[in-house]
Amino acid sequence: MKPRRFDYVRPDSADEAVAVLAEYGDAASVLAMLNLRLAEPAVLIDIASLKELDYIRVAGNMIEVGAAVTQNRLKDWPELAGKLPLLAAALPFVGHFQTRNKGTVCGSIAHADPSSEIPLVLATLGGEVVLRSHRGARVLAAADFQRGTLTTAREPDELIMAVRFPAQPTSRVAFREVARRHGDFAIIAVAACVEDGDTVRIGIGGVADRPAARRATIDRAAQAKDIFESLAFELKGYDDLHASARLRRDLLRRIGPVVVEEALRCAA
Ligand SMILES: Cc1cc2nc3c(=O)[nH]c(=O)nc-3n(C[C@H](O)[C@H](O)[C@H](O)COP(=O)(O)OP(=O)(O)OC[C@H]3O[C@@H](n4cnc5c(N)ncnc54)[C@H](O)[C@@H]3O)c2cc1C
Repeated sequence: MKPRRFDYVRPDSADEAVAVLAEYGDAASVLAMLNLRLAEPAVLIDIASLKELDYIRVAGNMIEVGAAVTQNRLKDWPELAGKLPLLAAALPFVGHFQTRNKGTVCGSIAHADPSSEIPLVLATLGGEVVLRSHRGARVLAAADFQRGTLTTAREPDELIMAVRFPAQPTSRVAFREVARRHGDFAIIAVAACVEDGDTVRIGIGGVADRPAARRATIDRAAQAKDIFESLAFELKGYDDLHASARLRRDLLRRIGPVVVEEALRCAA
């Protein structure tokens, strides 16, 4: 299939990328690396080679990842397992080696697939998205950024500059997903991270139109079952080509408590 004609812009700086977005708004599309061919923009702004956006840095208790960082570069970051163990557990499930070599961390956040692993981890940990346009910069909580399936709070003229993950002072994490084959988008995914004592951050992907994040104190195993029972009821699930809403709810009830138990069992 031949794409429609479009202009290709390779900016020299984030300022220039923001200026082109300001000029073309929703007629422009930011190309991070892969572009899944879901859009037919008039102008394509290629940010892949912007060195100023190619960084991973520790800023206070946040790990900030710039918009040009690929998923494999973050996966191979030597400090990842120590600072973001939940993300270290989830990243191997994101697509394949080849797609992670091209796909960016911020591109996955911008794409906002409800079963994507990176938005799920960002929501579970209570991370942030840094946006910039010609009108200025703003920072949104992950919970306010993703609004639904492939829908976010990003305005057409805004560039995602970076995402920020809160560092985790724990190694008590667990992540599991069910997919038809390894590397496929998850049918459902569950993340758990023990904060202190028995307080657990729980994240669920693939059941609602966006990742669901909850915090719960769990002091007996039966409690985890009750939590996922009511989450299955609350989140409902959805039907698509891969699974029915009912199967999604059933998987959540079965896998959720196992993931929480696994995180609680990890040595502190
Ligand atoms: C075969 C295959 C399997 C995959 N499996 C999985 C999987 O299991 N799990 C998963 O989570 N993902 C999966 N993906 C998706 C992939 O990993 C990427 O995360 C996704 O395609 C985004 O890629 P990208 O960074 O190249 O962004 P692009 O594809 O270039 O962009 C995606 C969207 O985000 C916008 N965008 C990108 N960056 C910015 C920015 N900085 N500011 C504003 N807007 C921006 C683009 O305009 C576009 O609308 C798969 C992809 C393929 C091709």
